[in-house]
Amino acid sequence: MKISELVRELKPRNIGIAGHVHPDGDCIGSCTSLYLYLKKAHPEITDVALYLEEIKGELKNLPGYGRSVHEEDDRVFDLFITCDVSEIERIGVAKELFGKAVNTICIDHHVTNPGFADTNIVDAEAGSCAEVLCEMYDRQFMDRDIASCLYTGMIHDTGVFQYQNTRPKTLRLAADLLEYGIDFSSIIDRSFNERTFVQSRIMGYTLNKAQLYHSGKTAAVTLSISEMKEYGATLEDLDMIVSQLRFIEGVEAAIFAYEVSDGYWKLSMRSKSVLDVSKACAVFGGGGHVRAAGCNMSGDEKQVLDGALAVIGEML
Ligand code: AMP
Ligand code: MN
Ligand code: MN
Repeated sequence: MKISELVRELKPRNIGIAGHVHPDGDCIGSCTSLYLYLKKAHPEITDVALYLEEIKGELKNLPGYGRSVHEEDDRVFDLFITCDVSEIERIGVAKELFGKAVNTICIDHHVTNPGFADTNIVDAEAGSCAEVLCEMYDRQFMDRDIASCLYTGMIHDTGVFQYQNTRPKTLRLAADLLEYGIDFSSIIDRSFNERTFVQSRIMGYTLNKAQLYHSGKTAAVTLSISEMKEYGATLEDLDMIVSQLRFIEGVEAAIFAYEVSDGYWKLSMRSKSVLDVSKACAVFGGGGHVRAAGCNMSGDEKQVLDGALAVIGEML
């Protein structure tokens, strides 16, 4: 299904776009690409609004992000589109606006997506939402900025085409994006290799604290708000830590629990080759993908860690 077909069919006079809470590279890249694409391919729709949470890091520099609105208003849209949102509760800034819109479309790639919109374009085989979007755009309206956003989305969710969610088609679609002259080397460098001093230090501290469980098959660690404060780190500085745990030799499951508010924790889980961590996270009301999933838990440090370890231990 092409974006142009959907627009032709629904004839919206205005369109809202939103991503998920705590937006990642796929979420931001997908949403900004769609915003830029609609502006270019459908200039007749003068009113396109992009709702994204305010972020701090490098993704801020993506073309189109500067046009995003960070607070919900009381508008009613003819069409509202979500990108990379796995369930309705996870819509970021504009949850109410989605509910009020005349028509809704959900574009996503999460296997756990229940199909919460009027039209659901969900490809669970796709490595990223950006990959789903690649096929929805007409070539004649593509440009370097749109391609940079899509490429950013792809590399964030596939770890630069190294996770098992990379399929031959992922690489073919990415190859097409290179045709637009995107600066892929610097996109990759800025996304994955560059780290602030604080980010390096909090990673060092957290990896040092981590322990192995289940005869070395699970690596797990918790990080409290007070520990983050000690290093001057915020939630946005923790992105790369769980994948480092997963790299440890012999480890199948990685668990990283970090405190987001007093006694309330976010858990990030990763697996290497057999375990379905989306199932483990679903036990706690979360979800995600086979190799990367998340959930939230309440309790103290020990309760949260023991709870997650028990479920993973059972599955292993
Ligand atoms: P993260 O560990 O935050 O990088 O998330 C990994 C994957 O799990 C992402 O694709 C998210 O969409 C999904 N995910 C993270 N947290 C949750 C949650 N609380 N509920 C459902 N899915 C989640
Ligand atoms: Mn995402
Ligand atoms: Mn995604």
